[in-house]
Amino acid sequence: MADVRTLLAGIVAALLPLTLAACTSSQDAADDGPLEVVAAIYPLQYVAEQVGGDRVHVVGLVAPGTQPHDAPLDAELTAKLDDADVVLFLSGFQPAVDTAVTSSDTSSDTGADGPVLVDAASHTGDVAIAHDHHAMLPPAPPSAEPSADPSPSPSTPGPPADPHFWLDLSRMPSFAQHVAEQFTELDPSGSLTYERNAQNLTAQLADLDVRYASGLLSCERREVVSSHDAFGYLATRYNLHTAGILGTDPTTPPSTPDAAAARELAAGATTVFTEPLVDPRGADELAAEVGATTAVLDPIENVSGDDDFVSVAERNLTTLRTALGCS
Ligand SMILES: [Zn+2]
Repeated sequence: MADVRTLLAGIVAALLPLTLAACTSSQDAADDGPLEVVAAIYPLQYVAEQVGGDRVHVVGLVAPGTQPHDAPLDAELTAKLDDADVVLFLSGFQPAVDTAVTSSDTSSDTGADGPVLVDAASHTGDVAIAHDHHAMLPPAPPSAEPSADPSPSPSTPGPPADPHFWLDLSRMPSFAQHVAEQFTELDPSGSLTYERNAQNLTAQLADLDVRYASGLLSCERREVVSSHDAFGYLATRYNLHTAGILGTDPTTPPSTPDAAAARELAAGATTVFTEPLVDPRGADELAAEVGATTAVLDPIENVSGDDDFVSVAERNLTTLRTALGCS
């Protein structure tokens, strides 16, 4: 027996350094405090908060109530990126963030030399769609057909991909699950918490998705004309027709095709939608031109006050049902 005890002691002694190394190779929230997470835009922040719960500390890069597309990234915010354990961003949405994450030494998605970078564009449940969803309009030329490539080659210009994937509520769970997996890699002892939280969020969003589908099933109208072209994913999911007075990025000048598409679609609408964070003048003018009223439809790019993702999504559904005459 003595020989066996000696052998076991030897095995334990041999394994101990490996065990310690395993513990210190990942960020254990129980020992080292919460995971530090930076989220570039609010929908990603919401997912991180819901999935991470008390085990994560989430910082949003864009102040509440601020338009995120062209939000600047100063030195203080850039430092937050460098100091984070995880950075959630959406490539193609915020040029300043894209530049920061590609030019810094946080280029590894393995976390070897900096934060783990999670590009939501790779976890939307499907490839990105182009913003050609104007189903009421004449057929687009072949070059403007929806693209299966989320990052069209510069040599083959086409419509810019629509980044607003969160407005198709069925796509958020894919991202939530990936976030749970990333958090678990860095904080293995939180595995069950992250998985349970992701499942709870998935169930909540699935319920909302069903309410959207049923609530928008039988409507007198299906035209969604908005200040900027943010509702392509929503329109595709719930069988609506949409056009934006401005393109998928409201901070760039309006294009003639976008404005023409919005004007044509608005001819069949009784409501033109404004947004909380985009200048409403274009929508107001178009509504006056076609004899429509206006209502606020929020692309949930940011929130303020007591709102959160779900509360705004629920308000959007009520707004859409009223504007479109849904039964
Ligand atoms: Zn937008």
